[in-house]
Amino acid sequence: MINIALDGPSGSGKSTVAKIISKKLDILYLDTGAMYRACALEALMRGVDCLDEKSVAAFIDDIDLKIVYENGAQKTILRGEDVSTKIRMNEVSMKASDISSLPCVRRKMVEMQRAVAKGTDCVLDGRDIGTYVLPDAKYKFFVTAKPEVRAKRRYDELTAKGQKVEFDCLLEEINRRDYNDSHREFAPLKQADDAVLLDTSDMTVDQVVDFILSEIERD
Ligand code: C5P
Repeated sequence: MINIALDGPSGSGKSTVAKIISKKLDILYLDTGAMYRACALEALMRGVDCLDEKSVAAFIDDIDLKIVYENGAQKTILRGEDVSTKIRMNEVSMKASDISSLPCVRRKMVEMQRAVAKGTDCVLDGRDIGTYVLPDAKYKFFVTAKPEVRAKRRYDELTAKGQKVEFDCLLEEINRRDYNDSHREFAPLKQADDAVLLDTSDMTVDQVVDFILSEIERD
């Protein structure tokens, strides 16, 4: 069984790398961040504050969220609608970080993530995969990069899509999300003791992919 846990902060390139690895090894890829983003979108649609635990707890267990695969690509379906693009909006990112700090949300999402991964060769990316979701994963990597490098990657990605963004704002957001994600009480962003640390600041995507594949093939 190949279970790969890819954890790390926002913009570290985990999802790009995870997608390539899942194709090369022909295994399932689950982007767990998309699920927290969908929870935030649901709260926004309901006009609920993402930090209001009581109001979020009232809907989270019955959230109509499904992860489906189309030609190998993950689609996030909320209330029957494909929200894969909507959840990438910048305003959803910060809200996702807020809502993901609530234990009721994490319990529900982790239950769904384990159900998807159960008995399947897979690569999961997130913040707590190696420490909490799949603590027995055979391969664990903690992928990171300097905040300035991550902000620059995000800046290039968004400007390439025609969005007008300020580098300094993106850097501030990245720092805020890092702080939020690593300081929450329940399953924070943290390198698992048995994870391999990979600082990708000076690495290309291909180099990161090759490194991870070589670690797996060495076995
Ligand atoms: O990875 P992505 O940036 O899409 O994740 C959005 C937010 O969801 C993160 O900022 C983080 O707060 C949260 N998240 C999490 N645990 C995961 C994946 C994402 O708390 N396993």
